[in-house]
Amino acid sequence: MDKEKVTGVVLRERAKGENDKLLSILTAEHGKMVVLGKGVRSLRNKNMVAAQPFCCATYVLTKSRSGMYYISESELHEAFFDLRADLLSLALASYVCEVADHVSVEDNADVPLLRLVLNTLYAAAGKKRPTAQIKGAFELRCASVLGLSPELSCCADCGDPDAPAYWLDILGGELFCADCMSKRGHEEASVEYSGEWSRPLCPVSPELLAVLRYVISAEPTRFLSFSLPEHMEADFSAVCERYLLHHLGRGFSTLDYYKQFSKL
Ligand SMILES: [Zn+2]
Repeated sequence: MDKEKVTGVVLRERAKGENDKLLSILTAEHGKMVVLGKGVRSLRNKNMVAAQPFCCATYVLTKSRSGMYYISESELHEAFFDLRADLLSLALASYVCEVADHVSVEDNADVPLLRLVLNTLYAAAGKKRPTAQIKGAFELRCASVLGLSPELSCCADCGDPDAPAYWLDILGGELFCADCMSKRGHEEASVEYSGEWSRPLCPVSPELLAVLRYVISAEPTRFLSFSLPEHMEADFSAVCERYLLHHLGRGFSTLDYYKQFSKL
């Protein structure tokens, strides 16, 4: 096929030559695609808007002689212009797209990931939820979409689903109640959470656990539809971040940037 019609969201752009861009687009049809945007850095180019970061559009792609696809036509669905009006929302959107660019692969359609990215960008642009809530829910849900979901139904040792306090083993993705942790003689059980994501255990209160369980089990369009009390925002954001970054084995420069504006 010399032409492809795909729908997706622009995750990343790199300038190429005087007027072109290389774009990383997460598509419903083929997963991540790296395509050329010919002339899209020119304001007069018809595909200029659809070649901006975060934009969601349907693209007609044409294969060049070198085998690379370039955008020949585009129909914009959503530009998320409101993201650009707020530095924190913009930083969050950049982080979401950098994570998606890292975890998505070419020639592998991943509609759940695309849907997660778009729902998260909608929420960040609309600012109807606290930014820390959107960030944390995206992180945990992203781990879930990748098949890395933690097992949150009960204590992995004694099976208690309703203990007064738990610890989440970040690497193992398992919960342990406080009793079982002390029986195991884990020194960590007595250690207070320091806020650093490199530590492998996180304390989880029953109310925080209820939120984590909701985020993982909710319908794709409902994963942000919960209220997060302000006093829980920091813990929720921290545990979700630690979980995702540990399992991906890396940090993200866009997350560091986000943290310049937010402590959560
Ligand atoms: Zn237990």
